[in-house]
Amino acid sequence: AYSGPTGDEILAKRREFLSPSIFHSYKTPLNVVEGKRQYLFDDKGRRYVDAFGGIATVCCGHCHPDVVAAIVEQTKRLQHSTVLYLNHAIADFAQALASKLPGNLKVAFFTNSGTEANELAILMARLYTGSHDIISLRNSYHGNGGGTMGATAQSIWKFNVIQSGVHHAVNPDPYRGIFGSDGEKYVRDVQEIINFGTSGNVAAFISEAIQGVGGIVEMAPGYLPAAYDIVRRAGGVCIADEVQCGVARTGSHFWGFEAHGVVPDIVTIAKSIGNGLPLGAVVTTPEIAKALTRRSYFNTFGGNPVGTAAGLAVLRVIEKEKLQENAFEVGSYLKERLNTLKDKYELIGDVRGQGMLLGVELVTDRQLKTPAPTETLHAMDQMKELGVLIGKGGYYGNVFRITPPLCFTKEDADFLVDAMDYTFSRM
Ligand code: PMP
Repeated sequence: AYSGPTGDEILAKRREFLSPSIFHSYKTPLNVVEGKRQYLFDDKGRRYVDAFGGIATVCCGHCHPDVVAAIVEQTKRLQHSTVLYLNHAIADFAQALASKLPGNLKVAFFTNSGTEANELAILMARLYTGSHDIISLRNSYHGNGGGTMGATAQSIWKFNVIQSGVHHAVNPDPYRGIFGSDGEKYVRDVQEIINFGTSGNVAAFISEAIQGVGGIVEMAPGYLPAAYDIVRRAGGVCIADEVQCGVARTGSHFWGFEAHGVVPDIVTIAKSIGNGLPLGAVVTTPEIAKALTRRSYFNTFGGNPVGTAAGLAVLRVIEKEKLQENAFEVGSYLKERLNTLKDKYELIGDVRGQGMLLGVELVTDRQLKTPAPTETLHAMDQMKELGVLIGKGGYYGNVFRITPPLCFTKEDADFLVDAMDYTFSRM
């Protein structure tokens, strides 16, 4: 049994010794002490089905034995900086990652987070093209560093300190967007930004294939291919932020962009690729990567032996356990069941997403699509009491984000939907 500090004791320390900006979920936050595959356990030994951990860290499941073994073995042998000397771990992982990517996307640079990966992607795009302007989408999240905070366009995650050269295009949001599901119409805004807001040349277009933090917003069909065309005609490169939608999560494909029939010039990866370890990557073409050789560029721990050993183990587990197939099968089943709930409750305005990247948007009025953030928070708290953890997001804070580890089962899906059903029935 757990005999460590209680939740209240931890909270007291946090209040005194941690940044006041640090936040937690739930009115009474969980004190989690252990994780096993798709389950988390609190200090009282209570088990929770973790339907949000997939985004935070894990794709193979908490503490997957193969990944843990890879980490432990490498830690015992060597942990050092990436630069200066040779070590096989980084090279093995880079090769394995390249084998998962299409076209000429085969050169990696490793980082410790998604923010760092996107900062580097933007830097490379600017160096390679000689242009400065970046186009990103409203409602996107790309990180919280100087450049990525500029690219991020979110209501609550934005400190507008540097916004140099970033333009935000109208979001091709099929549910709330002004042009509905007509991707071709939204893309005119990209052309107009280039025409009216730049010299005619841009450095890059950056986008998620499914916006995660933004509330699991899928790109209207046809949008990404058309946007990529326009941006490339203006001399820019296309960056796919796969931090949330990549690494088998959408089920139908290994990468989110693949469902749109596009091949980006730069791909950024983080979060679940390390299954809990800080690991990020930028993968691009040899030609674009060369832009970084004009001067020296390095990252002390980006691509360190332990992180990359974990990354390689993650790719192997995904194949061995057919996690992409599972994401597709169980994710489709879960979405179907959530849609049945939508027929039952007016509160559900929209069910969307792919594989194990699903969103449920709550509204108090279906016609007006009035956001229901209070109901969202309340339901999350109630579901936690029933033993189910989900996340929330979206511009209005009214979207459930359901992003479990990819080993989630049909039984877990049933448990989740039953808990949601019961919660809504009592609201
Ligand atoms: N891109 C996307 C799509 C993300 O969701 C996030 C994190 N929420 C990031 C980038 C930044 O990643 P990190 O928090 O690891 O810096």
